[in-house]
Amino acid sequence: MNKNLVSFTQLILFVVISQVLHAQVPDVEMPRLEQISESVFRTVHRPGAANSNVIVTDEGLIVFDGTCRGAGDPTWLKQELGRLYDVPVKYVILSHDHEDHICDLHVFDDTAVTVSHALTRQHIIREGRNTSVPDVVFDEEMEIHLGGKKVVLYYFGPTHTNNLIQAHFPEEGVLMAPDIARAERSLALPDFRDADIDNLIETLGVLGKLDNVEIVIPGHWGVTNQESFFQYRDYVVALRDRVLEEMIAGATIEQILERVTMDDFSDYGNYDIWLRPNIISMWDKMYRYREPNRDGPGGEDSGGVYQDAYPLGFSVGDSGAGANQ
Ligand SMILES: [Zn+2]
Repeated sequence: MNKNLVSFTQLILFVVISQVLHAQVPDVEMPRLEQISESVFRTVHRPGAANSNVIVTDEGLIVFDGTCRGAGDPTWLKQELGRLYDVPVKYVILSHDHEDHICDLHVFDDTAVTVSHALTRQHIIREGRNTSVPDVVFDEEMEIHLGGKKVVLYYFGPTHTNNLIQAHFPEEGVLMAPDIARAERSLALPDFRDADIDNLIETLGVLGKLDNVEIVIPGHWGVTNQESFFQYRDYVVALRDRVLEEMIAGATIEQILERVTMDDFSDYGNYDIWLRPNIISMWDKMYRYREPNRDGPGGEDSGGVYQDAYPLGFSVGDSGAGANQ
């Protein structure tokens, strides 16, 4: 067989196989920047991974968060931004300390100032997060001005974590609000481990009414709008009330897991996966939130329900129910 013919056949085979392989990979697997508004872009990459956003100005770029390990991560983003723009990244903003939102953002340290809430910096250092240690921190509100554009950073107190912030670009009506809005296909968070429930509920109301917001970019999945704050608030309030009601009636965590179904929210994404940790972590929050009656629900002798239920399967011993506390 002619050598050139073999090469040609191999080439055709290669092209065909490449096309078949490529066709099997959804577009979302190929990282790219999706334009959200005139100056704001979102990195589209692995389904469900944390969003990474970019604000473009004539004098430099602002990066808000970075997704962890894999397609579309900060190393890719840096190459892509270098290819597309002739201005450097001047600011990197960290939404909160959870590592899946801030991985590897130190790749921008050569040109950028890293900004976060003051408490985020503390968590990053304590946990040894794989990211850029913030150079500039703030407590309540901060403005960044670059290339004639203004980005406002808000902190409304402890919510999803004690350090979560939002970035608002009012000129184009964009609010970046990771892990606090109901996203397209997600309840927003798997559990309430770091959360302050009361202030989370209050802040969801504030964010839902913030002026100059047309588009909300959540922490995962595609863009949404301010209604997503109210939808998430409805879920958190219902979950809190249902768990609390069962606890007051004397139900154990095992009984609560059976009884609290949240079926009316079953169209919320990740419902099957996250309902159990949502209930358990809400139960844990409510345990710390209330002290039951001395003799248990209804005044009957509870046999030690006052303290013994916590932690799970690990008795704290004699409740001392006879003593004044
Ligand atoms: Zn988070």
